[in-house]
Amino acid sequence: KKILLVGGVAGGASAAARLRRLDETAQIIMFERDEHISFANCGLPYYIGQNIKDRSKLLVQTPQSMNERFNIDVRVHSEVIRINSERKTVTVNSKEKGIYEESYDYLVLSPGAKAIRPPIPGIGSDKVFTLRNIPDTDTIKNFVDKQEVNQAVIIGGGFIGVEMAENLKDRGLDVTLVEAAPHILAPFDTDMAVIVEKELVDHGVRLILNDGVASFNDKGDTVDVILNSGQSFTADAVILAIGVIPDTGFLKDSGIELGAKGHILVNDKLETSCQGVYAVGDAIEVVDFVTKQKVAIPLAGPANKQGRIAADNIAGLTSTYKGTQGTSILKIFNLTAACTGSNERTLKRLKIPYKAIYVHPVSHASYYPGALPLSLKLIFNNEGNILGAQGVGSDGVDKRIDVIATVIRLNGKVSDLTELELCYAPPFSSAKDPVNMAGYVAE
Ligand code: FAD
Repeated sequence: KKILLVGGVAGGASAAARLRRLDETAQIIMFERDEHISFANCGLPYYIGQNIKDRSKLLVQTPQSMNERFNIDVRVHSEVIRINSERKTVTVNSKEKGIYEESYDYLVLSPGAKAIRPPIPGIGSDKVFTLRNIPDTDTIKNFVDKQEVNQAVIIGGGFIGVEMAENLKDRGLDVTLVEAAPHILAPFDTDMAVIVEKELVDHGVRLILNDGVASFNDKGDTVDVILNSGQSFTADAVILAIGVIPDTGFLKDSGIELGAKGHILVNDKLETSCQGVYAVGDAIEVVDFVTKQKVAIPLAGPANKQGRIAADNIAGLTSTYKGTQGTSILKIFNLTAACTGSNERTLKRLKIPYKAIYVHPVSHASYYPGALPLSLKLIFNNEGNILGAQGVGSDGVDKRIDVIATVIRLNGKVSDLTELELCYAPPFSSAKDPVNMAGYVAE
């Protein structure tokens, strides 16, 4: 059996490792366009902010370790430029070997997504950066380390934009964050996002909402960022973090069916429209676990799980992907914000009836030192099915959202939240945990 993988990071590396565990004899070849495989994308902003100090810690596996540990033929600097699904071959452009073809019995695509760079006037400035991989990280970090960089403008208040705002602030920069929507962090509703916005402002981030970039004007040493409102800011560095698009240009003419925005279409076994070709990660369209709509949710947990599922199916173990619920978390200075499932905006757009309740408990027994406020929002329907939850606070947000995410995954109801027996002693929680409280209020 000969299995090829395209992309060697989250989805690709986890598919490769699982394939080897399930099949000791298969020939497995991994193609990666860049120099690095299996690196910690999620750690990149924290390395720029010097919260992670050692660059080598970002490299979870190297081509050598992947080969020694899993007997996988890792070929870096090798871009797959074409797929011939009828002949079952891929065309590779290798820095070392030039262009050649490789045949496959099975193919796993995990090419990921790339940062959107819209055709805004002046976007070609060498001071406008995007962040996806180690080379991008090195470029931004070297720029911040070496140059006289004082002013940063971040375009986009999504997870990466907010993480970069915090990390550049940690480096002592003056940071402006520009968001075109009425509030930052699209997966959250306004009432929860405002708590995060206040934390950013309290830590000195200048926050501009309801405004987008009209143009950039490179002045040599600095770049002016001109907004639609006419307002402008001078920056030494701009981080553009306005979302991603699937990196699937090489699949054009492959016969593999793509969606309107270029996502690879897969069935619940993660097989594409071409037999023997599987696809996982940021590049695929998935089913929203709650709404059952087709969506694209670029997150590391789903990419890793999908890699494992594709490998299972290739090895003959039937395994299905049941959808993504978008469980995510973010640190904002001293706060944590986390969410799972649908928010009010999505449910309104889809005309799905819902109710929302809030609880504002403290993170653990109020009489034990260090109890901190926690805001928890629970969204559910008339039948009591939980549709989503959002939490913001300084402590214990992650466990509350993870518990609710688990209940959603097991198709639980608000009444189940009241019955959950969760760990309790005064330093950790209350005898009625905030999750139980949310259930009581919702019931
Ligand atoms: P990737 O991990 O992007 O890997 C795709 C690889 O394929 C790339 O290395 C690319 O070079 C290679 N490739 C593409 N096309 C080809 C080709 N034609 N030939 C050969 N190789 C090719 N998610 C979270 O859940 N939590 C977080 O905190 C979080 N933080 C993030 C922070 C940053 C800065 C970034 C950029 C992402 C973050 N993510 C986070 C998202 C997470 O990293 C992705 O969801 C995940 O990496 C997707 O895995 P993937 O395998 O689909 O794509």
